[in-house]
Amino acid sequence: MIPSERPWSKTSPDRVWDYVIIGSGMGGLTAAAMLSELGKKVLVLEQHYVPGGFTHTFRRKSWRWDVGVHAVGEVSEKSTIGRLLTKLTRGGLKWATLGKVYDEFYYPDGFRIDFPDDPQQFRQNLYDAFPQERSAIDEYFLLVKRVSGSMKSYYLARTLPRWVGTFADRWLARDAQDHLAQLTSDVVARLTQDPKLRAVLVAQWGYYGSPPNRSSFAMQALVTKHFLWGGYYPVGGSQVIAEQLCGAVARAGGWTRIHADVEEILVRDNRAYGVRLEGGEEIRAHRVISAAGVQSTVTRMLPGQRGSWIDDTTKLAPAPAHVCLYLGFEGDIRTAGASAANKWFYEEWSPELEGWDVLDPSNMPRAPVLYSSFPSLKDPLHDPGPRQLHTGEVVTFVPWETFAPWQGKKWRKRGEEYDALKKSLEEKMLAQFLEHMPGLRPFVKYAELSTPVSTDHFVRPMKGSIYGLEPTPERFQNPWLRARSPIKGLYFAGSEVTTVGVMGATMGGILASLAAEPVGTFKLLRDAARAGSL
Ligand SMILES: Cc1cc2nc3c(=O)[nH]c(=O)nc-3n(C[C@H](O)[C@H](O)[C@H](O)COP(=O)(O)OP(=O)(O)OC[C@H]3O[C@@H](n4cnc5c(N)ncnc54)[C@H](O)[C@@H]3O)c2cc1C
Repeated sequence: MIPSERPWSKTSPDRVWDYVIIGSGMGGLTAAAMLSELGKKVLVLEQHYVPGGFTHTFRRKSWRWDVGVHAVGEVSEKSTIGRLLTKLTRGGLKWATLGKVYDEFYYPDGFRIDFPDDPQQFRQNLYDAFPQERSAIDEYFLLVKRVSGSMKSYYLARTLPRWVGTFADRWLARDAQDHLAQLTSDVVARLTQDPKLRAVLVAQWGYYGSPPNRSSFAMQALVTKHFLWGGYYPVGGSQVIAEQLCGAVARAGGWTRIHADVEEILVRDNRAYGVRLEGGEEIRAHRVISAAGVQSTVTRMLPGQRGSWIDDTTKLAPAPAHVCLYLGFEGDIRTAGASAANKWFYEEWSPELEGWDVLDPSNMPRAPVLYSSFPSLKDPLHDPGPRQLHTGEVVTFVPWETFAPWQGKKWRKRGEEYDALKKSLEEKMLAQFLEHMPGLRPFVKYAELSTPVSTDHFVRPMKGSIYGLEPTPERFQNPWLRARSPIKGLYFAGSEVTTVGVMGATMGGILASLAAEPVGTFKLLRDAARAGSL
């Protein structure tokens, strides 16, 4: 019996499963919980020693941090997905609002703008900052509504197999196709000549990891829409997501197995029938769902497969890598300006920022943008105790290539050169961050930097990417990124099937369940949608 508070283990029963799911991120666990709800026997396999993928957390001394969850939109009981997650977890997964303002933006010349939890207020904040640009701002909101609305048909088309899907992509999703093909920078440039408004409209591009001159406008529109009603944080910390969804799997007689590194998906006569783990153990299943990333799956787990679908998928570029500075504080950080809202510190106005150029550690420029977040202030269950313990996270993009030489080297034993680079980045990032929030300095009691090789080691995205495949027009037009693979019985879940983010991955899990079990999944979705109109 798996204990309910840790519904996973290092072993799994020997049986033929209805579904084996590779990867316990939000995408894999959403698909697992939905299929479990439909009565299927599901085994989730996770290579790490904790489940959750980018929703897992880790501890050092008395502090605990999330690795990939700062703000999630569209998850309250007002949204169908929010209600679906409540149903799957029997109410165990709850979300706390980040408050009236969820994102604050700071620019070099003292300009500040807040993104609030209300679309009317958001529009007003933009009008106040750019009074001459009311019509451009109105036009932007109209576009966001139109484009994000059209993406529903795009997602639906992506549940179909490729042979009907190509037709469906073109016709069912024809409104979306136009916007998918356009670059964010081109669309925004048509709306306004004001460079500052252009920068502010795309200020959140860090949430999808592709600068405006490379990203598809559909992605920009989806992120704007995603946060129109504010940002939320999982009550109890982001590990609650995996605890609750693994619990849903366990309740239905399924299993989550950690330390289970899938080496190969077993395929015979173009049908998937199970997986082989590192070490040689084979596990049989009627169907396999890979939620470990589409590109990662085709490159690493299907060695015998050839063809245009493999070539086309492998060609796509991953989004950049990142470094994250994890901070442990002692003291009331609210007195130094910290709050539940995320703070973006832009060092320049140009929205076309590449990552931090860290190639030459002896001559490093400032990071062009720092994104910071205070998770302990977001969580209503966080008890700071008498020492007033709090946490902070500071993130920025870096090129994978700088860190690639250390890929595959043992964790914490990567050598002096790596340690020196890491230390130097940590010090520079902390100094830059404290210039923006000097009042925090006396409270900093712990600092540790994660690099793209840490990301590679713990979660394994391609090239240590923060968000998987970059959301470019090419990515959205790639015909193979769909829930059904060309191999019978092999499905894909997770954010690479849909779009980045916790809700993007959730949607990817839903699409996999819909493609594999259309009738049952449709009923679950219909019930969740109807519950909103009661
Ligand atoms: C620093 C950072 C900040 C972020 N902030 C936000 C935010 O504020 N809001 C938001 O919505 N999103 C945010 N994201 C993005 C979000 O966390 C991810 O897009 C989402 O969680 C991805 O889910 P997924 O299921 O697609 O993939 P993942 O979470 O990557 O899951 C894939 C899983 O597959 C496992 N796996 C890989 N290979 C194998 C194998 N061979 N065998 C077994 N298991 C395997 C991995 O270990 C992993 O657990 C952030 C991400 C990062 C890194």
